[in-house]
Amino acid sequence: MASEFVKVTDKIFFFSGEQETDRPFLYYIKGRDYSVAIDAGQSKEHVEQFYSVIQKEGLRLPQYTIITHWHWDHSFGLPYIQGESISSQLTRQQLEVVSNWKWTKKDMEQRVKDGTDIEFVNECIQKVYSDLSKIKIVTTDIIVNDNMKLDLGDIQLELYARDSIHSRDALFVYIPHEKALFVGDADCEDLYNGGEVKIDRLKAYREFVNNFEIERYFLGHDVPDNIEGVNNYLDELENNAIE
Ligand SMILES: [Zn+2]
Repeated sequence: MASEFVKVTDKIFFFSGEQETDRPFLYYIKGRDYSVAIDAGQSKEHVEQFYSVIQKEGLRLPQYTIITHWHWDHSFGLPYIQGESISSQLTRQQLEVVSNWKWTKKDMEQRVKDGTDIEFVNECIQKVYSDLSKIKIVTTDIIVNDNMKLDLGDIQLELYARDSIHSRDALFVYIPHEKALFVGDADCEDLYNGGEVKIDRLKAYREFVNNFEIERYFLGHDVPDNIEGVNNYLDELENNAIE
């Protein structure tokens, strides 16, 4: 199914993902003074499609793009965005590492063997990049060490760099005006660390999420959820978590 651009509130839009290549949801936050995107997507083509639907709606292109975590499907679009990018310090560090990786099938297979990358990722990358030499990785422009606020004029965004269940470098976005929390893939398993959910990381995550009043919970690879759905999901995860 092709990605579609969906208006959730007057301020929040999403460009839906696709399962076939693990294409994530991208978000557009419309502010009075400027607008912001969440995640840069997989490729030049992904960014171009996102920007094209934004402009078709008569909206401005984002001035900032916030990266939720370093994984390729959220960050490989970075060279093609307009304006500046924002990430946690850990995301930038990891993107610096990844920018030195070589992108041939042989190098990719080797990284799976030595445990620095995973098979599923390589399969998806090869579906998106028929020409692997087109892969280009850049790091982010602005770093969040702990918290940061962005004032879009009529709404404020709160950014939090924290650990998550899914990766160590998560950057969360909360919009008090909308009671909306954007978590990227933070509540999914960590495929780079065995794929099992560790109870301490899960508990820390729940504690973090409980700080917010949430009406809308926005995910990296699914349609928005409400807090009841989130708690049910996290209960389930907790039942299957390991020490
Ligand atoms: Zn991810």
